[in-house]
Amino acid sequence: MATEVERDRDYALGEVRRQAAGCQNCPLWEIGTQTVFGVGPASAMLMLIGEAPGYQEDQQGMPFVGPAGRLLDDALAQAGIDREDIYVTNTVKHRPWVPGGRQGKNRPPKQNEINACRPWLEQELAIVRPQIVGCLGAIAAKWILGRDFKLSQQRGRWLSSDVAPHVLATIHPSYVLIQPSDSRDRCRNTFFADLRLIGQKLTELERRAA
Ligand code: SF4
Repeated sequence: MATEVERDRDYALGEVRRQAAGCQNCPLWEIGTQTVFGVGPASAMLMLIGEAPGYQEDQQGMPFVGPAGRLLDDALAQAGIDREDIYVTNTVKHRPWVPGGRQGKNRPPKQNEINACRPWLEQELAIVRPQIVGCLGAIAAKWILGRDFKLSQQRGRWLSSDVAPHVLATIHPSYVLIQPSDSRDRCRNTFFADLRLIGQKLTELERRAA
C-alpha cells in the first residue's frame, strides 16, 4: 500500500500534469492534439527520458506507445525491467512535426521548444527524484548532461548529474527503426545491451534499498 508521502508525490505529479495539459509556452501546442506528459509512479527509481512524442503518442496522449515504444517494451522486457514500475517521459511534451504523408513527419524539437518545455521536465525530476536516469537519444542526454555531451563517444557509460546519481545515455529506439537493414540488428543489439546495463543497476539499487 502507498505511504502518505508517496500519495503526496503522486498528487503533486498529477497537479503538474494538469497544468501542463493547458501549456501554450511554445508554438507546438497549436499543431499538437494534446500534451503528452510523463507516465509512471512518482516513487519510480528509474526515469527514462526520450525526445518528443510521435504520431501515436500525440493521438493517445501517452509517451512511447508507437513503434519506438514497442521496441522499448521489448528492450525493457529483456532487461528485466517492469514498465509499470518506471517513469517514462520526454524532453518536449507536444509533437514536433511537419506536413507530409498521412500522419505528418516527425521532426526534432528546436532549441527554443526544448527550452520552453524545460520547466515541465524539471518538475517531473524534482518530484520523482529518480536514482537512475536513462537518456534515450542525444537530445535527452544533452538536456541532462550538458551541451558538450557526445552520444557517439559517451553512450553506454555511467555518469552522474545534478538530477540523478546514475545516468546512462543510449540511442533513441526510433533511431534503431530508421537504420538500413544491414545495420539495424547491430544498432538494436547496442540499444538492448544499454537497457540491460540500466536493468542491472536498477536491480543492484533495489537490493541495496531492501
Ligand atoms: S511543447 Fe512543452 S512548452 Fe511547448 S506548448 Fe507543449 S508543453 Fe508547452
